[in-house]
Amino acid sequence: MTTQTIETENRKSEAWDLIGSLFWESGRTTAKPSEEEIDLFTSGIQAGDRCTVVGASTKDLVEALIARGAEVTVLDFSERMCADLRSALPAGSCQVLRHDITRPAPEGLRGTQRFVLNDRLVNRFSETEARKGVEGMLDLLADGGQLRASIKLGLYPMDERMIETGRERGTLESFYDAEAKTIDFAAAGDVLTDALLPHGDIAPELLLQWYQGRGREQRFDHGDILALLEKADVDGRSLGLLSDCEFGQAPKTRMYTAVAQPGA
Ligand code: SAM
Repeated sequence: MTTQTIETENRKSEAWDLIGSLFWESGRTTAKPSEEEIDLFTSGIQAGDRCTVVGASTKDLVEALIARGAEVTVLDFSERMCADLRSALPAGSCQVLRHDITRPAPEGLRGTQRFVLNDRLVNRFSETEARKGVEGMLDLLADGGQLRASIKLGLYPMDERMIETGRERGTLESFYDAEAKTIDFAAAGDVLTDALLPHGDIAPELLLQWYQGRGREQRFDHGDILALLEKADVDGRSLGLLSDCEFGQAPKTRMYTAVAQPGA
């Protein structure tokens, strides 16, 4: 008997299909990397280096890499995000592919990238997605290649408002798993509506739908990230932490740099 693995579509992409270019046109400035943060991401990257940015919303970083002459690929699971980025950049300046990073890397890109970069993307993941997502990033890297990921540690101000409201209303456990440090925006109902904080000029109704579609997201501490990197394993290949540092002006956010190591 043959067994077949049927991968189900990651429905979280539908939330990002609602937003597209609004993220960089109308979203909160602090959700995007600042100039100083882009310098951290691009430090030492040379013309011709193969770089993948995961997240088409991180347009300023993509442009900075193109300006350095890097060979840039952008991966994003949202069709609209990919389409909007393609229209915003000069034709042929980089490759933009629709791909869910929690899946194995696209065949032609496996083991080819010198750098894989992403800005606060891991914060959009549930526990399982975080493990698979980091392995998807490792799968893209050539041996010796670097993963550079900025990650916000702890709770966002809106999480704190939701937790406080949920506690007051006795509904906290329906959307927040304190042990797993996981918040489920899809399950929060009125608590999400009432705790919603503005995101630049994005209309509140759209913002609400975006959050609802983002579903489960884990919140991390430093130890969680070290464990996540240490456990990453793709066919015996692994990640070794090279450094971690404060990430520019973003509060309680760190940039982790890890190197892809060959299997035994
Ligand atoms: N701070 C970020 C920025 O500056 O763009 C926003 C967070 S993250 C990079 C958001 C981007 O990642 C969106 O474009 C979203 O579609 C994409 N994304 C989220 N989950 C993904 C996944 N599993 N695979 C590929 N792309 C994903």
